[in-house]
Amino acid sequence: MTIPGPIDPPARLLMGPGPISAYPSVLRSMSAPLVGQYDPFMTSAMTETQELYRQVWGTRNEGTMLVDGTSRAGIEAAITSLVRPGDRVLVPVFGRFGHLLAEIAERAMAEVHTIETEWGQVFPPSVIEAAIIRVRPTLLALVQGDTSTTMNQPLDEIGAICRRHGVLFYSDATASLGGNEFEADAWGLDAATAGLQKCLGGPSGSAPITLSDAAVEVIRSRGRVEAGIREAGDESASDFVRSNYFDLGMILDYWGPRRLNHHTEATSMLYAARECARVLLLEGRDEVIARHRLAGAAMLAGVEGLGMTVFGDVAHKMTNVVAVEIPEGVAGDAARAALLEDFGIEIGTSFGPLHGKVWRIGTMGYNARKDAVLTTLAALEAVLRRFGATVPVGGGVEAAADVYAGRG
Ligand SMILES: *Cc1c(COP(=O)(O)O)cnc(C)c1O
Repeated sequence: MTIPGPIDPPARLLMGPGPISAYPSVLRSMSAPLVGQYDPFMTSAMTETQELYRQVWGTRNEGTMLVDGTSRAGIEAAITSLVRPGDRVLVPVFGRFGHLLAEIAERAMAEVHTIETEWGQVFPPSVIEAAIIRVRPTLLALVQGDTSTTMNQPLDEIGAICRRHGVLFYSDATASLGGNEFEADAWGLDAATAGLQKCLGGPSGSAPITLSDAAVEVIRSRGRVEAGIREAGDESASDFVRSNYFDLGMILDYWGPRRLNHHTEATSMLYAARECARVLLLEGRDEVIARHRLAGAAMLAGVEGLGMTVFGDVAHKMTNVVAVEIPEGVAGDAARAALLEDFGIEIGTSFGPLHGKVWRIGTMGYNARKDAVLTTLAALEAVLRRFGATVPVGGGVEAAADVYAGRG
C-alpha cells in the first residue's frame, strides 16, 4: 500500500449542531506531553479538572469527574450505574436523544416508560409530575437541550418534583452545558452528563459527569467488584453493575482519594476537558452564556432576514442552535454540500420527522462569534440564491449585524 501523508484536514468553520471548531487553546493543550497515570502532575490535573467542572455544573458534588468516551459514554455510565434490572425509568421524549436515553435504559434492563411531545415543543413540569405519579419510576431521565429539535427543556422545577416523589433525577446536558443555564445543585439534579463538542468548545471524547451524594449512595449500595473479587457479605452483591468500564463506583474510586486503578485516564482528553472548563470559567460562566445568547439571537435574526422560517417553539430554543426550514424548491443536501465545498462551512442536516425538512445551524463555543455568524449568513445567502431561492440581498448579514449593534 502507499502510506498516506500526515493528517492534514481542510480549513472548516463548523456551524452545525456539533461537533464544532474547538478553541485553539484546547487543541494546543492536547499536544502537551504525556505523563504517567499516577505522576503527581497527572493526579493534580485530575483534581483541578474536578474542581473546574464543579463550577461549570454549579455544584459542590464530590462525585464530579470525567467518563472517558464521547457523551454517550457518560449517558451509559450514568444509566447503567443508577438503574438496576427491573427498575422503572421514566423518559420524557421531545427529540432524538430522548429515544437514546430510553434505548440505553432498556439495554440496562430497566422497565422503561416514555411520554412524548411533538418535536419542537417541551414538557410543562406538571405533565412530567403527572407521569411520575402514574409510573412511579426510580429514575427520571430527561434531556436538557435536544439538538435534534433545538429545544431546551426547562429543568429548574423538575428536581423539586423528583424529590417530592422520591425519584432520582438525571439529565443529559451535552448540547446545552456552557451555552445555557445549568445549576446542578439549585435545580436538584442527582446526575448529569455532557460532552465537550458542543458549547464547551472541545473535541468529542470526554464526558464530564456530576453525581449527587444520593446518586453516589445508590451506586455504592450496588455490589462491589474490586480487583475482580466481589466482596462477600454484601446483600446487594448480586446487584453489581454489569459493565466494568461504565461502573461509576469504580470510576469514583479512581478519581477519589483512594485512586484505585481502573482504566488509564485518557491523558490528552483530560488536558482538553480541563482547558475547555478553564477558558469557560476565565471568561465567566454568565458571560459565556450571554455570548451564546447574543450569537444565537443574531443567527436567528439572520436566517429570518434571509426570509427563512424557524422551526419549533422559539421561546424554548437553546441559545446555541437554530433549526430552519429548507426553502421550497431548494435541494437541501446539495445546497449544504455546496456550502461545505465552496465556503468551507458545515451546517447540519436533521433526523427523524425533520429529515429533509430543516437544517440546523449552531453557534457554539469558540464559534459563538460575530465573524462566524456573519460569514455563515453571507455564504448561506449566496448558496440559497444559487439553488433557486429568492433571498433579500444582504438581508441575513444586516439583521444579524443589527442584533450585534443592539438594534435587533
Ligand atoms: C450531541 C449530543 C450527544 C452526542 O453524543 P456523542 O456520544 O458525543 O456523539 C448526546 N446527547 C445530546 C443531547 C446531544 O445533543
